[in-house]
Amino acid sequence: MSAIVAVVGRPNVGKSTFFNRLIQRREAIVDAVSGVTRDRHYGKTDWNGREFTVIDTGGYVVGSDDVFEAEIDRQVELAIDEADVIIFMVDVESGITGMDEDVANLLRRVSKPVLLAVNKVDNNKRAADAVEFYNLGLGDYFTIAATNGSGTGDLLDAVVEVLPPEKEEKEEDDLPRFAVVGRPNAGKSSFINALIGEERYIVTDIAGTTRDAIDTKYNRFGFEFNLVDTAGIRRKSKVKEDLEFYSVMRSVRAIEHADVCLVVVDATRGFDGQVQNIFWLAERNRKGVVILVNKWDLVEKDTKTMKQFEKQIKQQIEPFTDVPIVFISVLNKQRIFKAIETAVQVYKNKTRRISTSELNDFFLPLIEAFPPPAYKGKYIKIKYCMQLPTPQPQFALFCNLPQYLKEGYRRFLENKLREAYDFSGVPISIYFRKK
Ligand code: GDP
Ligand code: GDP
Repeated sequence: MSAIVAVVGRPNVGKSTFFNRLIQRREAIVDAVSGVTRDRHYGKTDWNGREFTVIDTGGYVVGSDDVFEAEIDRQVELAIDEADVIIFMVDVESGITGMDEDVANLLRRVSKPVLLAVNKVDNNKRAADAVEFYNLGLGDYFTIAATNGSGTGDLLDAVVEVLPPEKEEKEEDDLPRFAVVGRPNAGKSSFINALIGEERYIVTDIAGTTRDAIDTKYNRFGFEFNLVDTAGIRRKSKVKEDLEFYSVMRSVRAIEHADVCLVVVDATRGFDGQVQNIFWLAERNRKGVVILVNKWDLVEKDTKTMKQFEKQIKQQIEPFTDVPIVFISVLNKQRIFKAIETAVQVYKNKTRRISTSELNDFFLPLIEAFPPPAYKGKYIKIKYCMQLPTPQPQFALFCNLPQYLKEGYRRFLENKLREAYDFSGVPISIYFRKK
């Protein structure tokens, strides 16, 4: 599970400019594959070989100016709770403002690493002006210019230095780990409560520290599984679950720790942008996914409603459409069992192994019948293939000219593989390698 770095600060200091600079490189690659660009406020990056998740808290501030301040304070508090390292960004152009002082007051009491980044330092005069930020009482600062990247390398060096050591993922058991994720109010806690019922017994609490995601083992409906990050419900009274930011922060952690994500959708709201973000986050992390359309009791239905709803969701999740969708009502305990059964099946699909001989028997005749198109008169010959020994299905196809194989052909092979084997709910990677 990668560490989380949160960028906090008042609006307009340059948080999202900085954030975009950090994640651009990698996100661009992902987007080229899926062909979709999305507005995001969190993403993965790496520096000096260390990978971490960055969250731009600013993206979640909504409303008019007068609610800004309270909102930002809350976000900073949540960032303090959830992040491993906090970058506090201020703006040399405007100097210290009252809001900066408020944030600094919150951050001074924190035991986690806080790095002060003075942004918009585009010239020497501004570098000299930056000394005023010593007055925030947070010690030394980094001067950066997010627009051109100057100074950001030193800042990232410092970030990586204070990140907690990378933990080895050591699992206690082979049980599937499920994370129940989705927007606030979708019915996640109700679903979990329905699952664990009265027998809320906790078998194991694998928790390193208080802020770690917590696995709790359950035995329900004849299935054994771990629920990831149920800490969210335990602390519900304490936190403001209505905060989109909070739920995203939680989701990031829970998703990274899970095998299968149960993405809960509120049927009365539909599969909207925020829940799509959570879906793609799971996909990008190569996790199994089941979509649970909850509150189905509230939807006026005829015989076609379910099919239509399903079709709409599938359009939104292209090209990763081979995902099970279960319509549930937690209130009426409708299809709760089916939801878990499906999640268990997705887990099985995710751990599916196809032997090298079986895979070659499947792919090679198919490729012979439908060979990749020649590129500028050069024939592309795929010689053999294998599944890689990774926790999620990844396949390598060895060929003479991998660079000329196109996304369309990769997709064709993926679809054929999905037709032949049940990989429902599981992202598949197919790589072409030189041989
Ligand atoms: P956020 O609200 O904190 O996310 O701030 P934005 O990233 O949206 O930036 C606010 C404004 O500051 C934008 O107009 C940016 O172009 C500008 N800005 C960001 N970084 C720099 C910088 O390094 N130098 C200068 N001069 N302007 C910057
Ligand atoms: P969470 O924020 O995702 O954990 O959502 P909650 O579990 O707190 O549920 C939000 C609200 O939706 C509560 O008032 C629940 O009673 C209600 N709710 C949850 N599931 C259902 C359902 O299947 N049908 C209906 N009608 N309401 C539901």
